[in-house]
Amino acid sequence: MPDTKGLNPSRRTFLKGTAGAAAGTVFAELAGLGLDVRAFAAKAGDVPIKRGKEVPSICPYCAVGCGQIVMVEDGTGKILDIQGNPDSPISQGTLCPKGAATYQLAVNPLRWTKVKYRAPGSDRWEDKPLDWAMERIAQLVRKTRDAEFNEFQEMPDGKGGAVRKRVMNTYAVASLGGATMDNEWNYVHQKLMHALGVVYVENQARI
Ligand code: SF4
Repeated sequence: MPDTKGLNPSRRTFLKGTAGAAAGTVFAELAGLGLDVRAFAAKAGDVPIKRGKEVPSICPYCAVGCGQIVMVEDGTGKILDIQGNPDSPISQGTLCPKGAATYQLAVNPLRWTKVKYRAPGSDRWEDKPLDWAMERIAQLVRKTRDAEFNEFQEMPDGKGGAVRKRVMNTYAVASLGGATMDNEWNYVHQKLMHALGVVYVENQARI
């Protein structure tokens, strides 16, 4: 991915200055309401901005597609921080609370890294390898689809009667996608679902 360091510096500088001015205005307005904002303003000034190689990216959480800059440590590739990208025409440097927490998606010692499986009738979870889970999902999808596959279906013929048509589908399997699925993933996924005959294909993102 290209480095953004050389991109449109004047605009970025302008936006950074604008953000600083906006924060100053907010503090002044709060002070005008009689609130003592000195401690808050001092703390805001202390927040360290981690610097590294700036890699432009897209927020993985929803279809708005806000722009992000991933700060990466030179040499190690370690992620130092993830911030909004002022050059993004979509979000202009802003991120919602979820997008602003993207760093925790990539760097989080509390995040589960193993598949949790609870067998039918069991009251406990087991750790399973990802390959095991993928194979089991594939086998169950195939078994369910084959058992409930409709080659033909009767449907209204528009004249009060019925007509038998070849449909090649199944209503026994559904696909519910999440917003982290990008365009390319969605394209391949819907190809797979339609090849299986799945007609219930849905996604949470509605843009
Ligand atoms: S989750 Fe928030 S920051 Fe991320 S793309 Fe959606 S609106 Fe933007």
